[in-house]
Amino acid sequence: MNTRKLQQVIRSIPTSDGAGVKLRRSLGQAPALRLDPFLMLDEFASENADDYIAGFPDHPHRGFETVTYMLDGHMLHQDHLGNRGDLRRGGAQWMTAGRGIIHSEIPQQQSGRMRGFQLWINLPAREKMKAAAYRDVQPEEIPLVTMAGGVEVRVIAGALLVDGENVLGPIQGISTEPLFLDVRLPAGASFSNPLATGHNAFVYPYEGQLSIGAADEASVLAAHQAGVLSAGERVEIRADDGAAAFLLLAARPLLEPVVQYGPFVMNSREEIEQAIADYQNGRLV
Ligand code: MN
Repeated sequence: MNTRKLQQVIRSIPTSDGAGVKLRRSLGQAPALRLDPFLMLDEFASENADDYIAGFPDHPHRGFETVTYMLDGHMLHQDHLGNRGDLRRGGAQWMTAGRGIIHSEIPQQQSGRMRGFQLWINLPAREKMKAAAYRDVQPEEIPLVTMAGGVEVRVIAGALLVDGENVLGPIQGISTEPLFLDVRLPAGASFSNPLATGHNAFVYPYEGQLSIGAADEASVLAAHQAGVLSAGERVEIRADDGAAAFLLLAARPLLEPVVQYGPFVMNSREEIEQAIADYQNGRLV
């Protein structure tokens, strides 16, 4: 079996978004630094309330999905449909903007650690204008699998192969067939699993560094960088230099033109102009 190698490293850069939330952006910091269908990955991690307290007040999206995964902290989400959801430690939120959503994401804590991720995944052209949808995933809905060597895997979307059986995450039925795993490796441990051939994949270590690829051809990926993987049928990832934790993301590429203007991601400039006009005229949602 062909093991995927580390093909490209996208270092995260410090930036801020919303009302001044400090974060690290890897994918999506420039148009060339996306990985179809993944548009952006932000990591937010701070012990200092000034870095996150203002949150993300009301803002729109059209044409894609946002996935928020919380490691620590407490955020309240509210949208124009009347959805209201608490995002807590270990929980996730899968939001399909479709033709339009206007929402806010506001921290519900005055102090302490806030840590997590927001991932943007593109929608195919035929789904960009579908109705908005939203799903809160509670921590207890996310399977936690302990594999050989004490490796802990949380399956948020897609499937993990364990002893010949698929363990399914709570998020299924998305047309890009995303895999979203949160993997924790004790020092010296190794994780390997099949990965759909033809799906684009990347790894994002958020604690510690990783060795990626088969043992005789592995490359090192440091924390807070996105490591884009080559094509292949499986992944092999080791914590050769101390304990580590990482996200593993994979999905079927759309192979469609991407035109982005801030929170609107469409296929053409005309569609972006329409989105801006719709938002200005109160017809986005
Ligand atoms: Mn948002």
